[in-house]
Amino acid sequence: MQTPTSIYLDHAATTPLRDEARAAMLPFLGERFANASSLYASAREARKAIDEARERVAAAVGARPEEVVFTSGGTEADNLAVKGAAWHAREQGRDAVVVSAIEHHAVLDPARWLARQGFRVTEVPVDEHGSVRLEALGRAVDARTALVSVMWANNEVGTIQPVAECARIARSAGALFHSDAVQALPWILVDAAVADLTSLSAHKLGGPKGVGALIVRRGVKIQALMHGGGQERGLRSGTYNVAGIAGFGAAAEATVSRRDTISARVAALRDSLARLLGERITGISVNGHPTERLPNSLSLCIEGVEAESLILLLDAAGIAASSGSACTSGSSELSHVLLAMGVPRRLATGSLRLTPGAGTTVEEIETAAGRIAEAVRTLRR
Ligand code: PLP
Repeated sequence: MQTPTSIYLDHAATTPLRDEARAAMLPFLGERFANASSLYASAREARKAIDEARERVAAAVGARPEEVVFTSGGTEADNLAVKGAAWHAREQGRDAVVVSAIEHHAVLDPARWLARQGFRVTEVPVDEHGSVRLEALGRAVDARTALVSVMWANNEVGTIQPVAECARIARSAGALFHSDAVQALPWILVDAAVADLTSLSAHKLGGPKGVGALIVRRGVKIQALMHGGGQERGLRSGTYNVAGIAGFGAAAEATVSRRDTISARVAALRDSLARLLGERITGISVNGHPTERLPNSLSLCIEGVEAESLILLLDAAGIAASSGSACTSGSSELSHVLLAMGVPRRLATGSLRLTPGAGTTVEEIETAAGRIAEAVRTLRR
């Protein structure tokens, strides 16, 4: 049997490395291997590459270069924001943290860990579209709140959150506001001035895996998680991942420069995929906000199928897709995001996340729709 051509519809999990990123990285994977913290000429070259990347990442979110703290990715940026802000604020008598119920585990789990350390942690509910309930957020925040964390856009259903409103609520109580913009930055405007702390990750926008940043606005105080050589103003010790950081800078700049055009094109592909699947499959529903949603995000619930079986069947048919998030796919756990949105467990069992990207073609969308419909028919037999 011929292997079917592969179609990658999992850009929310990760993206292919962009040419600009690869070109920026290559010298530092070869002859330019110096430690950026050393003093000789080759080290200064590495340092210069980091400075340039810092400027590019800052420009991508309207921040100042000195506000960028490079990390090992979005997970570390989230941990640094949540634990770092909470630990600092505890010394000021604030011992409460408020997060939305649909945060990525890189925010939820540090918050739950803080709860075990004696912090009061509140998980604020969302509505049926996955938008955080602002009245509930307002009620959860008080003079003890150290940090409010609400993601810019959700990784499973794509709902874009009212982050400016959330920030206003946090600040009215004197709390810091953090937003995980890992999924948002590739697709929509992220203005770091909205939040005190903003998490970013390179591999979601054509950069390498294992590098990200936390934007720490001027004057915002948090504690470090890593102690050692004192890199990144003491907020993130550890020898610089020069190639990764250079790749991140190039990818961020290239992404943002063409973002509006790519977002419009990918949204049209996503909408046509939704339409084709709706025509061919009965008992299918779209999750997430009807309009306030990332342009590449298509989260579906398909009645009468079990997500894991569908993903495996699609894999055999050459389609890379996932159920909820990349880290929960493969496990039989139901998506905490869908459950928080009130999706019945029966439907959440059949969740499928399809996320086209900048390289996806019209032909791929048409072929994928046919293969997905066929896989669903097979499972329903
Ligand atoms: N936050 C969100 C919203 C994500 O989607 C992801 C990745 O799946 C992360 C954080 C973690 O980022 P990283 O893979 O760079 O650790």
